[in-house]
Amino acid sequence: MGNYRARRIKGTLLLSSESPSIKKAASILQNGGLVAFPTETVYGLGASALDSSAVKKIFTAKGRPADNPLIVHLSAVEELESVAQNIPDQAYILAESFWPGPLSLVLERAPAVSPLVSAGLETVAVRMPDRSEALNLIKEAKLPVAAPSANLSGSPSPTTYKHVIDDLAGKIDAVIMSTPCAIGVESTVLDLTASRPAILRPGGLSKESLEKVLGMSIALSGKSHATHLPSSPGMKYRHYKPRIPLLLVTGSPPGRKKILRELAAYYGKRGKKAALLNFDLNQHTQRAGDIDEIASKLYYSLRYFDNKGYDLILAEETDQAGLGLAVMNRLAKAATRIIRILD
Ligand code: AMP
Ligand code: MG
Repeated sequence: MGNYRARRIKGTLLLSSESPSIKKAASILQNGGLVAFPTETVYGLGASALDSSAVKKIFTAKGRPADNPLIVHLSAVEELESVAQNIPDQAYILAESFWPGPLSLVLERAPAVSPLVSAGLETVAVRMPDRSEALNLIKEAKLPVAAPSANLSGSPSPTTYKHVIDDLAGKIDAVIMSTPCAIGVESTVLDLTASRPAILRPGGLSKESLEKVLGMSIALSGKSHATHLPSSPGMKYRHYKPRIPLLLVTGSPPGRKKILRELAAYYGKRGKKAALLNFDLNQHTQRAGDIDEIASKLYYSLRYFDNKGYDLILAEETDQAGLGLAVMNRLAKAATRIIRILD
């Protein structure tokens, strides 16, 4: 990964994360430009959250529908009052426990934030990322930074700077080059504007961790039992899709593993190269702790299989504990077909 020499690709400036480069990136943001940067979840595509014309450029570069809101990134809890208002105590309790980290809080939007960030809603999602390059950039720019994932709308999110270049070179002003994202799935989005906190999108912070700190059980908002998909603006869109088909096999571990082996053999006989995501087929259970690694490699694997001549992906259901909830949410959205084994 390590060639961080400053250069241009199709007009997009590739910058290192050294201090002069961060200063350059911050001045691009202050002048209404777009900068992609690493976070602990996925690479983000940033613009000043206070500047509507800059925010508009994010939607254009990604081809993102205008009704899919963006998350505002801060470098300190004290900046919260500049982007949100009527902030409940719970927000400060959660920020104390989990910021910087993969938790976005949905709060009442302050007037200074461009309404385009919230896609017309009165609320705004806010978080503080746990990556020094991101925090340094936001601090240097002295701005709240609106940033969705730095991919073309619909495709898997980027977990390396090369993924960002593949999708957005020539469409954005700059990319900060650094190491891959450790968590690999987007932040958990928690709504604090309703009478009870609700998860709008499962993500890099587990439901169990949130429940422990809040001392209550938390609902998945609008969860559909068929697909495990919670409803949130933007979540209705086609998302995370590789270009090749993805078949997701669900059901009890022995049943689904048997079908996966049979499907792999079936396609193999017909000359099709099937990629198996992402488990040891000889094992009937996943080891504790494996799910974090599965999450961190999920989007990387989808993009890898797309680019290495595979014809399709055969994916296996994961347990839903911890980050498994987020992994299954993404797999269900990436799937062209979900095959449920009843046994
Ligand atoms: P991305 O950063 O590309 O993962 O997109 C951000 C996602 O956060 C959106 O697709 C929504 O699901 C969620 N989100 C952002 N702002 C809000 C909001 N104000 N209310 C509810 N969900 C939001
Ligand atoms: Mg996204």
